[in-house]
Amino acid sequence: MSKILIIEDEIEIADLEKDYLELSGFDVSIANDGRKGLAMALTEDYDLIILDLMLPGMDGFEVCKTIREKKNIPIIMVSAKKDDIDKIRGLGLGADDYMTKPFSPSELVARVKAHMARYDRLVGSQAKVNDIIEIRGIRIDKTARRVYVDDAEKAFTTKEFDLLTFLAENPNHVFTKEELFREIWDMESVGDIATVTVHIKKIREKIEYDTAKPQYIETIWGVGYRFKI
Ligand code: CA
Repeated sequence: MSKILIIEDEIEIADLEKDYLELSGFDVSIANDGRKGLAMALTEDYDLIILDLMLPGMDGFEVCKTIREKKNIPIIMVSAKKDDIDKIRGLGLGADDYMTKPFSPSELVARVKAHMARYDRLVGSQAKVNDIIEIRGIRIDKTARRVYVDDAEKAFTTKEFDLLTFLAENPNHVFTKEELFREIWDMESVGDIATVTVHIKKIREKIEYDTAKPQYIETIWGVGYRFKI
């Protein structure tokens, strides 16, 4: 669930915004002054911040500027004064949007959704690039949970995928079967370390040209396995 922080000293307004955003499925927290809001914004992971300009403690200008130095999340600034909105736009504090109070709650919800979608696209596209592991003809797409060998997709079960990904993300590191079992299967799992051997065999059948002479997952006799690069 996406988390939103409302920094607003007028309790009724903050509560109204919270109600509408919660109805739209967001998890909403409120801070009633600038300093508290800033502390929450910097220590918790929010997906968007709604920031009032005139606040006790520390005003919205300072809060926005300080959050921006540390975080890239969308900030919607609100103010009762149209002149102030024009002024903050001119200052280039890094807010993503500005709204003049009073605004309708449905307009706020629409803007929140639009900014979150935009931010998701931005961050999502970066994550996708980072989430592909490519090693000598094998491509592991972690986001889509797919594996390709020389561009041909191979079907992997969940545990086979997790095991291959774990080994490929830690190349050249030798893991014992016990370590791999602990890493991939949770403690309540039925099975034992022989399960690891079975899964390694299945993975090799999918990725190796010759399972008798594995090029990717190497057996270190008496110890365990490693992914060679
Ligand atoms: Ca205020």
